[in-house]
Amino acid sequence: MYLSNYLKIKSKLPSNVKILAVSKGFKSQEIKTIQNIGQNDFGESKFQEAFEKQLILKDLQQIKWHFIGRIQSNKIRKIVQNFKYIHSVDSLEKLQKISHVSYEEKKNPLIMLQVKLSDDPNKGGFNPELLKLKWGEIQELKNITLTGLMTINPKGLSPKENSKLFKKCRSLADSLQLPDCSMGMSGDWQEAIDAGSTWLRLGSLIFGAKS
Ligand SMILES: *Cc1c(COP(=O)(O)O)cnc(C)c1O
Repeated sequence: MYLSNYLKIKSKLPSNVKILAVSKGFKSQEIKTIQNIGQNDFGESKFQEAFEKQLILKDLQQIKWHFIGRIQSNKIRKIVQNFKYIHSVDSLEKLQKISHVSYEEKKNPLIMLQVKLSDDPNKGGFNPELLKLKWGEIQELKNITLTGLMTINPKGLSPKENSKLFKKCRSLADSLQLPDCSMGMSGDWQEAIDAGSTWLRLGSLIFGAKS
């Protein structure tokens, strides 16, 4: 683990920017270590893996779990039951299902909609034009709280190219009056802060490379 990286980034953060510690691939003991120095938001991308850690860590009630992985429709109920935040909602169909299930479960997850801002075939997300077109309909959905947008940049971009995509995300969020932008990972967090990120999703920079 790289607690010194964590502390260094934390000391440089503007007050409206938060760190989401991405613990996928790491053990509950490692989550505990960093939770112990004040980190309470943790991101996971696979339901089953996350759920096992949630059971082990259930006494640490300050922890807030964020789902950041690809959402399979048949896992939506379990995700709604066990996560306070969902960052990776990438289609209207899934958003509608989340709303419906949240109503049944009497939940109200905080939602960030994943947007697709480049042609990366590996990444899903809402098309920005479609999002604007459907925005009225989206805002009517019950039992969800829309707080922002989320984006994942393609690998291997220059700092300038990263900035450009992050700024697109920020301006789209602003135009929809959404406060949050979940953007910036271990390789591009600096540009993300400069562009107006509010959630940095940091994995390897904090936890180290996966074995
Ligand atoms: C793994 C992952 C991260 C963290 O990536 P690092 O480069 O290790 O910081 C952030 N966001 C998502 C969606 C991820 O799957």
